[in-house]
Amino acid sequence: MQLRLDKPLPPKGGKVSVKIHFRFNIPLDGAGRFGRQYTRDGVVYQIGQWYPRMCVFDEIEGWNTLPYMGLGEFYCDYGDYEYFVTAPAEMIVYGSGDLQNPAEVLTATEIKRLAAAATSDKTVTIISAAEAGKASTRPAARGDLTWHFSMKHTRDVAWTAGKAMIWDAARVNLPSGRKALAMSCYPVESAGDTAWQRSTEYLKASMETYSKELFEYPWNVAVSSAGITPGMEYPGMIFNNFNETKARLWFLIAHEIGHNWYPMIVGSNERRYMWQDEGFNTYINYIATDLFNHGEYVNAPAYFDKAFFASRDYMQFMQYKDPLMTVSDAMTEDQHYQFYGKTAYGLNLLRTVVIGKQRFDYAFRKYTEAWAFKHPTPYDFFHCINNATGEDLNWFWKEWFFTTWQLDQAVTGVTYIDGDPAKGALITIENKGRMIMPVAASITQTNGRTETLQLPVNIWYRGGSWTFKYPSTAKIEKVVLDPDHLLPDMDRVNNNWGYGK
Ligand SMILES: [Zn+2]
Repeated sequence: MQLRLDKPLPPKGGKVSVKIHFRFNIPLDGAGRFGRQYTRDGVVYQIGQWYPRMCVFDEIEGWNTLPYMGLGEFYCDYGDYEYFVTAPAEMIVYGSGDLQNPAEVLTATEIKRLAAAATSDKTVTIISAAEAGKASTRPAARGDLTWHFSMKHTRDVAWTAGKAMIWDAARVNLPSGRKALAMSCYPVESAGDTAWQRSTEYLKASMETYSKELFEYPWNVAVSSAGITPGMEYPGMIFNNFNETKARLWFLIAHEIGHNWYPMIVGSNERRYMWQDEGFNTYINYIATDLFNHGEYVNAPAYFDKAFFASRDYMQFMQYKDPLMTVSDAMTEDQHYQFYGKTAYGLNLLRTVVIGKQRFDYAFRKYTEAWAFKHPTPYDFFHCINNATGEDLNWFWKEWFFTTWQLDQAVTGVTYIDGDPAKGALITIENKGRMIMPVAASITQTNGRTETLQLPVNIWYRGGSWTFKYPSTAKIEKVVLDPDHLLPDMDRVNNNWGYGK
């Protein structure tokens, strides 16, 4: 909808009030973003995308009017939200932000248990399976109750409601000393000690890791809701499917709450650049998984599988497909997971091979801090990482995000100065693909000595062949490039020289 104002809106603090009456029927499945789940004890409503919203006006595009088509998600501006949900008194409503009127809508017991949860690192039950749906869980009021929520400085709000959900909560410890509350609500079908009974634990752990590693969670509450939605994120509210269990439930919760950092805190444009939130989020999910409960799920089959995304098969699969900079809606469904995987793999390569963990972690954190509550473009990200690492990484940004180029490093020859290994060896390596990367070369001499050299990416600046001198003392027995298989090298056979010679 376009509104044409009678008078231009004055700059610097000009205000306009817009009042919109709207209504819609809640669909069973709202395109994977929200909907209704029928359970033994009634319907669980998960409600997102539920009110008309302003397009973002930014300094790059002006008005961002790209419609929501499905794959490309949202691009939202920040604001302070006050909202009211009026529902039958037997329902409990869980919303993004802070509940403003607990005394009107909760029982004294629930308020007391919530206060206990706010000081507990162990999950505290607010409504148990035995209590769910009982009249004793509701205030004496009949008819309707109105729930008032408030959330400041956020892109969006969502909520969930049901008549008979289990509810539990625990404290989240934030780096500044501030505390937040992690809560879960789920139907009795979702209970179980490998299922949603661990939801709050997963939510709390993820929030603590992201707050410590990236940026402190800026709000006071986060809710993990079980319902029909296969996996969807909102500020302070995540929706996952009520049937999820075990490692998948961990990955989904770590992922959907991870979106509170990208793109809820760092407000990139999901409609155009899906990798800038899905990929960054997948990358931090790996970090959370490494740290969670002594690595409980590190080797579990992952929802966004690190090993698969880093595998040759996956790179092959992407060979003739579109680059990451492709606008979200134009990416085919079978391809769109490269927004998650190729991006996360690329950041891991920067962290482990190109920049090193210490400098990359500092730079990625600086990006998150610098662009919190703003709208970074991809170029803002590239420039920020270049600045904070002090390194020109444009070669990497170009090949990884703008192309489908592939890597093929090879070692093609070894000779000796004056034919004498004691005077040194000349080793020739080649870059046969269009992608470039630094080189790790493991060199073994017949005297048993093995050494791995790290050659910077700059060796490829003037062409695809590089010969370097190695101070050998005996004949070279073998040379192996990328001995630890860290790079997406498409042909590993030519990474070896000397076998069988
Ligand atoms: Zn996601």
